[in-house]
Amino acid sequence: MLSVAEALHRVLEHAATLSPVETALGEALGRVLAEAVASDVDSPPHDKSIVDGYAVRGSDLVDGRAALIVQEEITAGNVPTLAVVPGCCARIMTGAPIPEGADSVVMVERTQFANAIAPRDAAGDLSKPLLGTVRIHDDGFKTGQNVMPLGKSLRRGDVVLRPGVEITAAEIGLLAEVGRTQILTIPRPRVAILSTGNELVPANEQPTAGQIRNSNGPLLAAAVSAAGGVPVDLGIARDHLDDLRRNIRAGLESDVLVISGGVSAGVLDLVPAVFAELNVEQVFHKINLKPGKPLWFGVHRMVGAVSGPSSLVFGLPGNPVSSLVCFHLFVKPAMSRLAGRQQESLHATVLAKLTREFDHRGDRPTYHPGKLVNSPEGALVEPTDWHGSADLRGFVGANTLVIFPAGQRRYQPGDAVEVLPL
Ligand code: AMP
Ligand code: MG
Repeated sequence: MLSVAEALHRVLEHAATLSPVETALGEALGRVLAEAVASDVDSPPHDKSIVDGYAVRGSDLVDGRAALIVQEEITAGNVPTLAVVPGCCARIMTGAPIPEGADSVVMVERTQFANAIAPRDAAGDLSKPLLGTVRIHDDGFKTGQNVMPLGKSLRRGDVVLRPGVEITAAEIGLLAEVGRTQILTIPRPRVAILSTGNELVPANEQPTAGQIRNSNGPLLAAAVSAAGGVPVDLGIARDHLDDLRRNIRAGLESDVLVISGGVSAGVLDLVPAVFAELNVEQVFHKINLKPGKPLWFGVHRMVGAVSGPSSLVFGLPGNPVSSLVCFHLFVKPAMSRLAGRQQESLHATVLAKLTREFDHRGDRPTYHPGKLVNSPEGALVEPTDWHGSADLRGFVGANTLVIFPAGQRRYQPGDAVEVLPL
């Protein structure tokens, strides 16, 4: 049987980045950029003040001191109307352009304004020049201080973002700064979800004898959204060939089809047979993992397609925790590759110390839900009280999978174990 690492490798071999699409800036968060973006502006667009204060000529100050005439007030969004001549200065606000002649700004806290000669009119009209004198006492004064030169952040024509970068809030702001409200990005993978089983009823119904509610459908849709994909919920298919065929065909329209149930060894586990009939090519079936041994993976190419699979197809075991663990171990990394995150390190495990004694026995490596916390003594992990692949409640609060190798061992508190943070 394939190991988890080999199975992941086989999955990723088939997960090619999706084709880029034109995307509005408001839709771009979390996607991967698919073009180089150059700036159409200099930033800042002028030499600008980075504090509120007075724009001065450094040569007017002696030991950081001077008494200067205030010729005008420049607020952000306005432009200076006067050059600063010797003995004069301009009151200036953060972001406003430095007037000609000035080379430095003294912050307002190191000044005293006095003797308003022609105070602003009662209505506070800012267009009226504000004339007066200001006394400056800035012990640490250096010529050039508090001025951000034109183009210091970026120059027109500079490539400011390269393809492959993940778009977070900072990139969104930068794209806005350079005027790019439409960009090429890798789309979010569309992931169809099909829950199979004659025993299933939708979550809003009361199960009768022999029935259970469909928890995998909502679980997988949420997991897909959380992983940055677009879930396409196909609902429940019965364990009948016709129903499976129809729904699987519909699911093959998406980039990924995730089916839960029907891939184990039961008499109604018909999914692999329907895959074969619909030309979904099996890559592997069954892996050395607990929970999740029956995992099925294959690819489906559109008729006539020469390169690249058109859909990745996962048959997840029906037990909810098996489905969830297989989602984290295989579907999520595949989605990440489809979405263009080539660099992301997958299955990046860390070592943590067990907080309690733990008995492990099993013929397969077990991925056991756990609660991982950082402490002054390093990472600590507590395996949750979990009763196997049908016990979804035992997963509540888990933020990691604790990997126990096959075999039998009694672990003691403080023993180091490998964990995979989720
Ligand atoms: P299967 O893989 O179809 O043999 O299902 C294995 C177990 O998981 C059975 O006990 C099913 O009832 C259960 N199961 C299958 N699908 C779901 C689902 N969508 N929600 C909750 N339990 C499920
Ligand atoms: Mg079933």
